[in-house]
Amino acid sequence: MEISAHTKIVGLIGYPIGHTLSPVMHNTVFNKLKLNFVYLPFEVRPEDLAGAIKGMRGLGIVGLNVTIPHKEEVKKYLDSLSGEAEMIGAVNCIYRTDGGLRGDNTDGRGFLRSLTEKEIDLEGKCAFLIGAGGAGRACAFMLAANGVHRIILADKVTAKANALGEDLTTEFPLSSIRVISLDDNRIKDCIRGSDMVVNATPVGMRPDDGLVIDPDCLHNGMFVYDLIYNPIETPLLRAARERGAKTLNGMEMLLYQGALSFELWTGKKAPIEIMWQVLEERLKG
Ligand code: NAP
Repeated sequence: MEISAHTKIVGLIGYPIGHTLSPVMHNTVFNKLKLNFVYLPFEVRPEDLAGAIKGMRGLGIVGLNVTIPHKEEVKKYLDSLSGEAEMIGAVNCIYRTDGGLRGDNTDGRGFLRSLTEKEIDLEGKCAFLIGAGGAGRACAFMLAANGVHRIILADKVTAKANALGEDLTTEFPLSSIRVISLDDNRIKDCIRGSDMVVNATPVGMRPDDGLVIDPDCLHNGMFVYDLIYNPIETPLLRAARERGAKTLNGMEMLLYQGALSFELWTGKKAPIEIMWQVLEERLKG
């Protein structure tokens, strides 16, 4: 598309934003559908976040994705939050409404849709979730809200897992929420006894990363979900596959959270197939 005075700007704020695939995914779709939009990455340091949101207002930017480290901090600069963003405590998508800038969380719905598409049954299940940051919080709330009965949480910083555990218990008092420290020797039994393991830490992204949990806990009766999409098979997923577990990487979640953002900004249905094709070309190619 030719940039003109009518071009609508959307984008991403984060720090760092290095290897994001969102610009290529959204811009390919804008071009194919002949929508006069452009998606730009903006590297925004934490100390510049307030100025960036002020700039968004002043420049008439239509929407933004928000990534590390701004997902929680950005809430205070917005005019309203969706129920999910409020519940999860993090915003990954901002869009304009008549009432001003609204923050939403499409990570959680993207995660849930990826599970639905793969026909993963959550009802009454037990999930072990490691990583209580922005993505981990979104996933934990979605699991609790959609039938998972027991959630066991762990994080490098146990206080973070505790805080998430408390928020989950307040919201879902009938669910069984437990926090376990990484050095607790009962952790292996907790993982082994779970129907589902979710990795919401960045461990596995770098080539020299080891496994985030002991692979001996993995078995063919479980489903292992790693939110990481690059590489497409992390050491955790490889170990799980080798032991016969069902596995999923973060590509679908990336796709669906992006599709939901697209729909909030453009008001049009997202062309899932085109978006998926772009991601496959970039990640599998
Ligand atoms: P985040 O806010 O930094 O949260 C990650 C959490 O994991 C932090 O609490 C971190 O603790 C903890 N952690 C790090 N290493 C650990 C370890 N060895 N054991 C236990 N906990 C550990 O990051 P995020 O935004 O939630 O993202 C987490 C991962 O999900 C990233 O890999 C990201 O790429 C992925 N993600 C994927 C999608 C998708 O669409 N597929 C969407 C969002 C995120 P510290 O802060 O103390 O290091």
